[in-house]
Amino acid sequence: MPFRAPLTNHHSDGTPCPADHKHTSSGKPLHARCPGRAYTQAVCSCGDWEMKDRGKGYVNECRRRHLADHPEGPKAPRDRLHLDAS
Ligand SMILES: [Zn+2]
Ligand SMILES: [Zn+2]
Repeated sequence: MPFRAPLTNHHSDGTPCPADHKHTSSGKPLHARCPGRAYTQAVCSCGDWEMKDRGKGYVNECRRRHLADHPEGPKAPRDRLHLDAS
């Protein structure tokens, strides 16, 4: 299974801003109890990488760059093929 680094949105107090907290295209909250999205966070399932930044696009870009740095994932497909062939 490949590594994953899902994006999550958060309020300034660190609580998650879930997907049902809609925002206008300029980022203003459309949800009565939503103080607004303060930052976007991405945590990689490898446990070795995480980041947060106000810019969602920037986090997404860094996330993709980090994921591209990973080999295929926790498994080593080439070793497995080698074993199957023997
Ligand atoms: Zn919110
Ligand atoms: Zn990772």
